[in-house]
Amino acid sequence: MAVSRKIGESIESSSWIRKMFETGNVLRAKHGADRVADLSLGNPDVEPPAEVQRALEGIVAARIQRKHGYMPNAGFPETRAAVAAQVGREQGVTLAADNVVMSCGASGAMNVSLKTILNPGDEVIVCIPYFMEYGSYVDNHGGRLVPVPTTKDFDLDVEAIAAAVTPRTAAIIINSPNNPTGRIYPETTLRRLADALLEAGRRSGRTIYLVADEPYRKLAYGGARVPGIMTLYPHTIVVSSYSKDLSLPGERIGYAAVSPSAEDAKRIVDGIVLCTRILGYVNAPGLMQRVVAGIQGVSVDVEIYRRKRDLFCAALKEMGYDFTVPEGAFYLFPRAPGGDDLAFVNALQEELVLVVPGRGFSLPGYFRIAYCVDTPVIERSLEGFRKVIRRLGK
Ligand code: PLP
Repeated sequence: MAVSRKIGESIESSSWIRKMFETGNVLRAKHGADRVADLSLGNPDVEPPAEVQRALEGIVAARIQRKHGYMPNAGFPETRAAVAAQVGREQGVTLAADNVVMSCGASGAMNVSLKTILNPGDEVIVCIPYFMEYGSYVDNHGGRLVPVPTTKDFDLDVEAIAAAVTPRTAAIIINSPNNPTGRIYPETTLRRLADALLEAGRRSGRTIYLVADEPYRKLAYGGARVPGIMTLYPHTIVVSSYSKDLSLPGERIGYAAVSPSAEDAKRIVDGIVLCTRILGYVNAPGLMQRVVAGIQGVSVDVEIYRRKRDLFCAALKEMGYDFTVPEGAFYLFPRAPGGDDLAFVNALQEELVLVVPGRGFSLPGYFRIAYCVDTPVIERSLEGFRKVIRRLGK
């Protein structure tokens, strides 16, 4: 067998989002692209802000010596400094360039961070529902995923997290604003989480690192504030990217920022730099590092997503769907009418509407809508949602 057992098994059970993508291609070929409403992928439809194009053109035109050469594995010093200043503002702490390593997206940042801190068999806590790739990222570096439930309204269940800590717990991953629920964890919850992790770490005799996955930080509605976790918990690594807030997911540009108060902060940064090289990324894309260095703080107009959210929420509410209104990101995570997420998703597919079943995020009984699509696609999908809830009941 040419393919390893592990990868062979992973291909078989490949992610639901991927499966929906493939189903979408089949449906588009059969019925025509304009009849299918594909709400399965978190691929932003909003064009990057004008600042991105301007910065790109300026850098392409500029004569920069060895523009396309290798660079320090951590990234350009001026890019790291610019990112450190911005993340410091967002987090409410002082960060230096040395606390930041540029990465290939948030996924790249997560992988180099996990490789740096995990020993074989170490456990990493995640909160259900969660972005499924976390399972692969933890497994990539010899770790074991420990999923714990969240509360009824998808806030962190701090007691459940504390109860899941063992002497093998190396880290917890949290994601706010959240994919798939759109939840922003409130500061009061994060304070309780910080206290619980410090206490659990004392009990287990080991520092628990908190990996805060924040690619949706700037996509928060109505001025909602995403608390700076670095001010609340010292042992924090923020991983993030410009995939969502600058609509640049294909450019693979992001960063890991290590809190200066984290235990062994300097060694962790050294480890992340090393892992950037040895995992084969070598460094984050050079052209994009120069682009983002000059436009820190810029983001797409979040009002565009807010309007799409409001359109969807009003229509689904009127039909009788049960969901928590998202506070950020561009996802909705309602209960599946009838209770069976797979049956619901299949019924919706017959109406040429694609969404992801909750089991794709380890929470059957729900489904995820990605509303980062053109408004006419949302409008076209509504009749399908109406028909299926009538058919399957609430
Ligand atoms: N984390 C979450 C929660 C995501 O939803 C995504 C992408 O959808 C990522 C990480 C990966 O982001 P990137 O494209 O920057 O690697």
